[in-house]
Amino acid sequence: MSLVTGLSCVQCYAEYPEGGSLTCPACGPDEGILDVRYNLDRAARSLTTETLLKRTRSIWRYRELLPLDEEFLPTRGTIGFTPMIEAPRLAEALGVGRLRLKDDTRNPSGSFKDRASAVGVARAMQEGHTEIACASTGNAASSLAYCAAVAGVRANIFVSRIVPEGKLAQMLAYGARVFKIMDSYARAYELCTRVCERLGWYNRNAAINPYLVEGKKTAGLEIAEQCADDPPDWVVCSVGDGCSIAGVCKGLASMKSIGLIDWDARVLGVQAAGVAPLVRAFETGELDRSGAGDTYADSINVPVPRNWRKAVNAVRDSRGAFVSTDDEKIMEAVRLTARLTGVFAEPAAAASVAGVAEARRRGIIGATSSVVAVITGNGLKDTRGALQAVGKPHEIPPELDRVLGIVEQSSA
Ligand SMILES: *Cc1c(COP(=O)(O)O)cnc(C)c1O
Repeated sequence: MSLVTGLSCVQCYAEYPEGGSLTCPACGPDEGILDVRYNLDRAARSLTTETLLKRTRSIWRYRELLPLDEEFLPTRGTIGFTPMIEAPRLAEALGVGRLRLKDDTRNPSGSFKDRASAVGVARAMQEGHTEIACASTGNAASSLAYCAAVAGVRANIFVSRIVPEGKLAQMLAYGARVFKIMDSYARAYELCTRVCERLGWYNRNAAINPYLVEGKKTAGLEIAEQCADDPPDWVVCSVGDGCSIAGVCKGLASMKSIGLIDWDARVLGVQAAGVAPLVRAFETGELDRSGAGDTYADSINVPVPRNWRKAVNAVRDSRGAFVSTDDEKIMEAVRLTARLTGVFAEPAAAASVAGVAEARRRGIIGATSSVVAVITGNGLKDTRGALQAVGKPHEIPPELDRVLGIVEQSSA
C-alpha cells in the first residue's frame, strides 16, 4: 500500500478518502482541486539520506512520497534526477550571486512534464485502465505519448491548432492517437473531458488530476536533495496552469517535513506579460477568468489557469513572489541561456531565466542571492519559436571571399 492518507480540497479543506472523484464534489471541478496527503511520519522512517544512497537515480527513488502501491512502482526509470548545472556566466549577466539551472530538458521526451506523465500512467495502470487521454498544447501530450509507449498502453491526445510541429512529431512517433481540434485549446480540453467520461478513459489533465502534481513534486524533492548542504535563497519556475510550481513547492516542503533538509527556499513564479493571470491572482486573491491575452511562449500560454489556487497558496507559503516578463525578454533569455550555459531552452522554459532578471530589477531577488532556475523544456521541441529568438544564418554562395568578408565584419 502507498502512504497516501487521503485527499483535501485546496478551497474548502474538506478531506476525502481515495477512490472517489478527482475533484471536490462540494466545490466543483473549476475550484475544487484536490491535494494528495501522506503519512509523513511513516515516510520519514524509511526515506533517509542513507536509504536514498542505494536507490534508482530517477523519480522512483522517492517511493514513500508517491501515490502508488508497491507493485505499480517501477524500481528503475529514465525520468528525473536531472542535473543541477552551475551557471556562473549567466549569474553575472543577470546580476545575481549564484545561479544553478535544474536542467529538465534532459528528461526522455525533453520536458518537465515527464515527471507527471510517468506517475499518471502508473496510476492509471494501478486503477486498471489501458486508455489514457489528455488535452495539451504540446509537452504534456508528447510526454504522455512517451510514457504510454514505454508502458504499453494507449495515449489519446487532444491538441489545438497551435501545437508546435516538433511536439506533434513526437506524439505521432510514439504511436498516440492524436485528435487535432480545429478550434481553441479550451474546446479541445472540454472535448477531452467529455470523451473520458463517456469512454471511461483515464484523464491525465494535470490541473484537475491531483496525482499528476505528485509527479511534478519530484522536481522539488530533487532540488532539496541536490542542494541539501548548499541551499538556494530562491527557486524559480515558469508558470502556466500552476501545477509545476505547486509541485515544486510541495516537494521542498515535504523534504523539510521529513527532516531531509532544514531550510526553506522562497519560490518565484514567472509568467509571460501577455498572459499573466496568476501574477494578478497572487495580488488580489481572485482569478480573472476573462481569458484574454497571448504570448509566444506556447507552453505557458494559459489564459485561464486551472490550478491557480494551489499555485498561489504554495508560493505564498514559501514567502515567494510572482513576476511577469515580456516576449522580447523571453527571447533574450533563450539566447543568453544557450550561449552562457549550453542549455537550449524552449521559450516557456527560458521564461524562468527572464524572470530572474525581472525580479532582480525590481529588487525582489538581491545581488548576492543564490538562485535555482528550473529549465522545463528543450528548445528543439519548438524550433520555430527558437528561430524567432536566435537570429539567422549567413546565406551565401560557396565562395571563400564571402566567408572572409563576414568573419572580418563580425570580428571588427
Ligand atoms: C507545462 C509547462 C510549464 C508550466 O507548467 P504548469 O504546470 O502549466 O504551470 C512550463 N514550462 C514548460 C516547458 C511546460 O511544458
